[in-house]
Amino acid sequence: MAEKLKVGILGATGMVGQRFITLLEEHPWFEVVALAASKNSAGKTYGEVIDGRWKLDIPMPEFVRDMVIYDMETQMEDIASKVDFVFCAVNMPKDEIKILEEKYAKAEVPVVSNNSANRWTDDIPMVVPEINPEHLEIIEAQKRRLGTTRGFICVKPNCSIQAYTPALHALKEFSPKLVVVSTYQAISGAGKTFDQWPEMVGNVIPFISGEEEKSEKEPLRLWGKVAQGKIIPATEPVITAQCVRVPVLNGHTATVSVNFEKKPTKEQIIEKWRSFEGIAQQLNLPSAPAKFMQYLDEDDRPQVKLDVDYENGMGVSLGRLREDTVFDYKFVGLAHNTLRGAAGGAVLIAELLKAKGYIEPKPELHG
Ligand code: NAP
Repeated sequence: MAEKLKVGILGATGMVGQRFITLLEEHPWFEVVALAASKNSAGKTYGEVIDGRWKLDIPMPEFVRDMVIYDMETQMEDIASKVDFVFCAVNMPKDEIKILEEKYAKAEVPVVSNNSANRWTDDIPMVVPEINPEHLEIIEAQKRRLGTTRGFICVKPNCSIQAYTPALHALKEFSPKLVVVSTYQAISGAGKTFDQWPEMVGNVIPFISGEEEKSEKEPLRLWGKVAQGKIIPATEPVITAQCVRVPVLNGHTATVSVNFEKKPTKEQIIEKWRSFEGIAQQLNLPSAPAKFMQYLDEDDRPQVKLDVDYENGMGVSLGRLREDTVFDYKFVGLAHNTLRGAAGGAVLIAELLKAKGYIEPKPELHG
């Protein structure tokens, strides 16, 4: 078997960083060789820093315990010399994240990012492998701008959109025109557990900063076209969103009403969802769900407790499709926000980038 690609995690101590570590522990293509965080964590072992801060309900993998954390800003060159590429999930002001990600790309390190800072940079692809793999072709234009041969940035979209955008994508031939969506978002989406956010127990908070704009606009960028070295976003469907924080640990639910230009039958919609397949399935990428979407016939599904881990948290669960009094149809979607919506989605992008030859092993690291 070919040697694994060597990978670094920027923001390894955060909630998404922790997910990356668990997903990469036994990954068939990637091996974690560098962990990086802020200067507060740098120089200490991961085990020391994470003591009392591990946020997942599965244990910390032992292989990271004695790894010494790098300062992602001042030790960039050390990290760059050890890795084939990095995942990035840091909590910093957007302008600082943009500078950081570009610095790594210019040091010839491909960056696969969870952050929102570069989601609207003209020549940076924002990808869900099953929806818009063709946007990767913009990477060549980005490399020309950056003056790099192997360094570039590729990002994934916001976690909230994963519960409804795949469902609408599978119905594109019927031309969805108008979409009203309400999201019910888990607290891990804010990087928190109930211990760290006790006010959320038994509570609902009707505000998540910046989330409604992302939920309305990011799907349009996914459905956009590559032209003249840019991604030109689609203009339809028009989406209006309300995003609410609910007392759930993992799993964003969305309730959706939709109008189509060509109204399909209920049977057609369910058949499109159940049979949908994207490039991740066709290439059989290691983290790809065998079936991207499941439709559940029971009236009380999808439920977070029963369905959030569908396909190891990489699939989307749909249900309650019915005719609406105002719109053509309404339905409910559910996706895991830190797996499909964050670290898992980014790992799947990296797998696609490797499969398509955008991330290759550096000869000096692989003898
Ligand atoms: P988090 O738990 O707050 O983790 C933040 C990470 O960033 C930590 O490793 C932290 O290192 C590092 N960091 C913070 N300030 C820094 C600085 N000034 N310099 C360098 N490193 C710094 O955040 P998270 O929930 O994992 O989210 C990380 C990113 O992913 C965010 O941009 C978030 O919007 C995005 N995201 C999150 C989700 C989700 O479901 N949680 C979904 C999609 C996208 P120290 O430990 O050393 O401070």
